[in-house]
Amino acid sequence: MGSANGLMGYRGKQPLLSFGVISDVQYADIPDGRSFLGVPRYYRHSILVLQRAVQKWNNSQKLKFTVNFGDIVDGFCPKDQSLSSVEKVVREFEIFNGPVYHMIGNHCLYNLPRDKLLPLLKISTLDGRAYYDFSPVPEIRFVVLDGYDISVIGWPQEHPNSIEALKFLREKNPNSEKNSPENLIGLERRFLMFNGAVGKEQLEWLDSVLQDATKSKQKVVVCCHLPLDPGASSKEALLWNYDEVMDVIHRYNCVKVCLAGHDHKGGHSIDSHGVHHRVLEAALECPPGTDAFGHVDVFHDRLLLFGTDRMESTEMIFTP
Ligand SMILES: [Zn+2]
Repeated sequence: MGSANGLMGYRGKQPLLSFGVISDVQYADIPDGRSFLGVPRYYRHSILVLQRAVQKWNNSQKLKFTVNFGDIVDGFCPKDQSLSSVEKVVREFEIFNGPVYHMIGNHCLYNLPRDKLLPLLKISTLDGRAYYDFSPVPEIRFVVLDGYDISVIGWPQEHPNSIEALKFLREKNPNSEKNSPENLIGLERRFLMFNGAVGKEQLEWLDSVLQDATKSKQKVVVCCHLPLDPGASSKEALLWNYDEVMDVIHRYNCVKVCLAGHDHKGGHSIDSHGVHHRVLEAALECPPGTDAFGHVDVFHDRLLLFGTDRMESTEMIFTP
């Protein structure tokens, strides 16, 4: 994944900015377990991975901010501990000497509804929306998408977004267990309850942000808990309407990299328009004593991800 030589060659050069990354901490005070596919999960160890990440980010003293790609507490967390567990993980993030940009994942929403979760993550948007953008240096814009905008998890049952999601799932997934991809073929396997979609309003907002970024000659990094390219992710982990989101992104030439979490094994691809997609390896699946986090150096012409341990380092050279 990427070339180590390229990474080393750039090591001494001054980036425009650097930021930390971590994904899928999925902490819970419960014994170790396994995923549906049998991959070991270390629920108590994952918060130690986060602690070591924050320590390393603080020691480096060059990171402008850090990004959490979602799923900070696992769905198996006992429900009477949901609030305290989310608060505990947020407190660990707050030890970082700088801003932390969070995004929500399905596991966060199994624990707390949006109206409780967003204030804890300091996502201060209108009406429970969790998408936003920021520009830490004039040349670069970050767009954080809300992949659970249209979702059956997180919204009150009677919320229009919840109703729309349920209708969509019933149409696309005939199984009575809506988290089962049984009999779904190829890319249809993404139509599962633990995924979601970007709604119409958010798509319009994305279009306007990319239009503005293009005018301002900014390069854009898109962040979303759910992956946006089948080349970098399992089919079962993709955003329901990744194709619609990518259609908007491909109308412009400003988006150079899309970063995601959710598909724990990680991945990297370059799509048909030259946009890099990098799905980050999960902190949850690090056996005790190992890590998965990193930092990214942003240059005019590339992003360099320096991963620790199980997070692979990746060089992402921008397509002109
Ligand atoms: Zn997830």
